[in-house]
Amino acid sequence: MSARARHPAYARDDSAITHVSTAVYRFPTPEPEADGTFEWHATTAVAVTLEAAGLAGLGWTYSSRAAAAVVEDELQPQVLGRSALDVTDGWSAMRRAVRNVGTSGLAMQAVSAVDVAWWDLKARLLGVPLGDLLGRCRDDVPVYGSGGFTTVDDAELAEQVAGWAEAGCTAMKIKIGESRGDEPGRDLRRIRQLRRLAPEGTQLMVDANGGYTVGEAIRMGDRLDDVGVVWFEEPVPSDDTAGLTAVREALACDVAAGEYAATANDVSSLLPVVDCLQLDATRCGGYTGWLRAAALAEGAHLQVSAHCAPSAHAVVAAAVPNMRHVEWFVDHARLEPQLLDGIPEVSGGALHPVSERPGHGMTLSEGAEQWRVA
Ligand SMILES: [Mg+2]
Repeated sequence: MSARARHPAYARDDSAITHVSTAVYRFPTPEPEADGTFEWHATTAVAVTLEAAGLAGLGWTYSSRAAAAVVEDELQPQVLGRSALDVTDGWSAMRRAVRNVGTSGLAMQAVSAVDVAWWDLKARLLGVPLGDLLGRCRDDVPVYGSGGFTTVDDAELAEQVAGWAEAGCTAMKIKIGESRGDEPGRDLRRIRQLRRLAPEGTQLMVDANGGYTVGEAIRMGDRLDDVGVVWFEEPVPSDDTAGLTAVREALACDVAAGEYAATANDVSSLLPVVDCLQLDATRCGGYTGWLRAAALAEGAHLQVSAHCAPSAHAVVAAAVPNMRHVEWFVDHARLEPQLLDGIPEVSGGALHPVSERPGHGMTLSEGAEQWRVA
């Protein structure tokens, strides 16, 4: 008997995806924000809805509105008519379809949004929570508070830290590497400020977003080790694997990277040079890509940490045994309740993705319309 015949849902002849739609939302930040190497004034969310048998699945990525055009022009022809149950086959078809426009970056962000929607739709079609479909290793997914942009003043940082502490976070991360590493004195002052503000025992984490040279990163890392920082993210640009290795060999704290990984090859090149692999399901091929990348990390005896998009990651992070934590990033923590209904809440320092609702349990919020730009 084939797998297709075993489950009653596979006997349905109405599982074909009949409709693909996109929507783009732009959420301005309360004030200009920056890290060591980039500044921004807004966050753009590109949402994808797939429909089959009168049900809808939702996925999204944080990207450019151009990702919506990739979905409509390049991916939609691969999706329409394919069974909502055949997610991985659809993933492969999408991957093939973007060969000529690029298999990472924007194109893979578009694939990611469709893949998340596809998994959501499949679970809804089967009438089960997505956590049941993926399988669970845990009910609670630890999060760490993340923000502390180089642009925030002392009072704003104190407010962020207080919010994370109130939510029970036992790890907190701020941005350093200000002005591409030109302000090491201010970086250190802000780290010490975090040390004072955070509750006793809090794990301190920093992210330089590739702002330092190898020499600068090692000199800063020596100071970080003195302060007790446990996580140094992208001390140098993450495509500088030799640089990551040099920094990692010189320091006690963990070195992490991976937020730009889009392909299995990207993951493979980072595994030998990090202590914890960061993965972003909205960039690395959705839940399909995330699960595969996490398995590659497990093969290298590494944990993974979900980068940003906490609501998207909750259910898939719960499905992976070698998961350390999910980044509860202030921009996304602020906008996801405006974009989505049904998001998993943070309490006791964790997300709780257990849900009785079919799929991942989230839908687009009516209130999000005010932020829609396409
Ligand atoms: Mg980062």
